[in-house]
Order: sequence, then structure tokens, then C-alpha cells
Amino acid sequence: MKRREIIHKSAIATTAAATTVACTRRTTAPNVRTGLPTVRWRMATSWPTSIGLFTGPEIIAKRVKEMTGGRFTIKPYAGGELTPALQVLDAVRQGKVQCGHTASYYYIGKSPALAFATCVPFGLNAQQQNAWLYHGGGLELLQKLYGDRFNIINFPAGNTGTQMGGWFKREIKSVGDLKGLKMRIPGLGGQVMSRLGVNVQVLPASDIYLSLERGAIDAAEWIGPYDDEKLGLNKAAPFYYYPGWWEGGPTLDALVNRRAWDKLPKEYQEIFKAAAYEANINMLSQYDALNSEALAKIVAGGTKLTAYTQDIMQAGQKATLEIFEENASKDAEFKQIYEQWKGFREKIYNWNRVNELSFANFVTTDWA
Ligand code: CA
Repeated sequence: MKRREIIHKSAIATTAAATTVACTRRTTAPNVRTGLPTVRWRMATSWPTSIGLFTGPEIIAKRVKEMTGGRFTIKPYAGGELTPALQVLDAVRQGKVQCGHTASYYYIGKSPALAFATCVPFGLNAQQQNAWLYHGGGLELLQKLYGDRFNIINFPAGNTGTQMGGWFKREIKSVGDLKGLKMRIPGLGGQVMSRLGVNVQVLPASDIYLSLERGAIDAAEWIGPYDDEKLGLNKAAPFYYYPGWWEGGPTLDALVNRRAWDKLPKEYQEIFKAAAYEANINMLSQYDALNSEALAKIVAGGTKLTAYTQDIMQAGQKATLEIFEENASKDAEFKQIYEQWKGFREKIYNWNRVNELSFANFVTTDWA
């Protein structure tokens, strides 16, 4: 090759390289073009970092960061780090943190209707709950409640699937055996148990194992096999009851302070919403996969898997209906959501008897 040709070719190569660099710079630095700001948020949560529930905050933080090229970041903190585990709603409302991840039913003392955001006893499973929230008018009602009462916007951001019915130091064969029992159980489930004679305790996750192991309480419900084993509950009590009839498909919520939310660019709001959707479905899928393995493991380790008797379930359901009606008669917010929810529940039960239930009954019993 002649020298002139070499110079010419290398000049072309250099120009091409410079063009590539310029293009790359434009595509990797869209903040120059869009002017989207750097936003740093803190997220208070109700959870220890070691358990499955913490995947909700983690997914939101990871996806928001990825989808904004690192310009909007959210740092989740374990329960108790920024604020007590069961006071996340207040921390978000007061603007101590921009957002939180928690279970709305921890706050039924502020408004009993918040129970519907998580779950109510003998209510909906995860699939039905999502149908109600996203397409049955549920989320609209709950966002109005959170907005009006707490200056918060809420998004479903995780679900455990149907939970287990808790750990007991001794066998419970009838409603009578529940009388005087000290049990950790929050929400309306706790109110129902209270009517069945249980001495109800509400403890954060971090306190359950020691309380049960040392006998300060006689029973405790937490989540399901995967998380319960992580807390060591299978080492603190031998009897593991099912089903968790007070938690058919509990939803966890991402709560955002309204002022902080309104300051976000529209793009970041949409990204946060998408990340919350992702947390909602991903957590449920993860639990379904992990729980079956964890249950087999703890049963092999000596846990006695035991079903609630029909009379306990029926007494629980009766007490639940009484609580629903009482709350509805004295709390307008509860009444409004309860009546709308009840209508939806009837429709989806009727549909699911035909499709999901008949299918599940066959494949899990007749055929298996
Ligand atoms: Ca639970």
C-alpha cells in the first residue's frame, strides 16, 4: 500500500471512530438532553433484610435505578433502622422518609379500612386480590383513602400468597384449646383470634423467635415455610398449622409521601409504578417456588404439619363477619370499601369455583 493511501485510510478510520464516540456519548448521556434530575430517596421498611419480604424493597430500588440510568436511587432500610418496624406509615406521612414498604393492616388502629389493602380473614387469594386491586376498583378506593387521610400514595408491591396458620407449642384441637393462649398475630386476624379467646400480641418479626422460644407467647404466626424457617420458628414450636385463613393473599404496599411524589418528574413516577408492579408479581412467584421446598425441609426436620379443625375455621369465619358488620356500622370508610369489596368477592368466588377451583381440585388430588 502506498504511503498516501495509508494516510487517507487512517484519516477515514479516525473520523469514523470520532463519529462513533460522539454517537455513543449522546446515547449514554441522555440526562444532558432530557434534564432529568438526580433524586435520592430513603425507604423505611417493616422487614428484616434476611427474609423474602425484603425482596419487595430490593426489587423497587434495583429497577428504579436501572430504568433511570442511576439518576433516581432509593435506599431501603431494615425495620427499626430509620423508624420502628410498625411505624412506617407515620414516617412516610410526616416526610421523615420519602417512601416506605410495609403491610397496611399494621395500621388498622388509624383506619380499619386499611385492612383491605393487605387482606382480611376469609378474604381473597393473591390472584383475586390483584384482580380486585388492578381491575376491580380496589386500588382506586385505597389510594383515595391513603390520599385523604395520610397524604400518601400507595402501590401494591409484593404478595406472599396464602400464608400458613402459625406455630403452636401444643396441639389445638378445638376452639376451647385457644382460650387464654398468647399468640402473635396482627391485623383483623388478631381481632378474630381475640374473639375466640386468644390473648393477642402484635410483635415485629425481630421479636417473634425469642418470645416463642422462651415461652413468653404460646403461638405465633408469621408468613410461610421459607420465612418462618429463616426466623427459626420451627425450632421454637413443634406444631405448624394450616391454612392461614386470615391471610389468603396478603399484599404489601409501597407508600410514598405525596409531596415527595408530586416533586418527581412524570417519567420517574411511571418508573416507580412499573417497579412496584414488578415487585408485586416477582415476590409472589418467588414465594410460591421457595415455600414448597422449605415446607418439605422443615417437615423432614420433625415439624408436625397440622390442619385447623372445621370448628375453629367456622368460629373464625363467624367472628370475622361480626367484625366486618361492626366496623361497617361505625366507620364510613370501612363501610364504603367493604361493600364494594364484598360485591367483587362474590363475583370472583363464583367465577373461580368454575375455573380455578375445579381445576386445582382435580390436578392436586385425583390426578396427583
Ligand atoms: Ca402473617
